[in-house]
Amino acid sequence: MEELWIEFVNSEWHDWKGLGASEDRLDKPGWLDGLLMRYDLPAYAPDEEGRAALKRLRGLLRGCAERLAQGGPLDDDVVASLNERLGRAPVTKRLERSADGKLQVADTWDAAADEGDVLQGAIALSFARTVAGGRADRVRICDNRDCLWVFVDETRNRSKRYCDDSMCGNLMKVRRFRARRKTEPSANG
Ligand SMILES: [Zn+2]
Repeated sequence: MEELWIEFVNSEWHDWKGLGASEDRLDKPGWLDGLLMRYDLPAYAPDEEGRAALKRLRGLLRGCAERLAQGGPLDDDVVASLNERLGRAPVTKRLERSADGKLQVADTWDAAADEGDVLQGAIALSFARTVAGGRADRVRICDNRDCLWVFVDETRNRSKRYCDDSMCGNLMKVRRFRARRKTEPSANG
């Protein structure tokens, strides 16, 4: 499964083919419901203020991803912002068996907590696990400037440049090829 914070930050979608289209999936009915369901989070229908708070968190995380992708450290005030969100959503951890019998750590969110706080806390926790779990230097942003999809590079040699080699990777290859052809004089004059 993808990671919660990655899916969340990519809710700001840009057409990777460069047609200029974009879509804010946080504004799309049903998108958030699906996300909450996939990650076993309490149902939450944000009002305008709640939605704005989610977009602020998304902006914060995109800034973090950009900084990490450039190899830079996260600023202390950014870490404090994330800690503030982690602190708002108390969570209990339990060792549970999944459907296939394997043990896993399950997060149980305080039922009395505000659903918006739980969501923000869960997203911040997901991000914290990526950066504190030794993968901070694997956070990337797709090299296709039209796409800008955030992903974690899981390849052994850390060489992944595009969110999807068969899509953005191929498109960029074709563009480089065409650009080269334009600058080279034609063989038969
Ligand atoms: Zn891409």
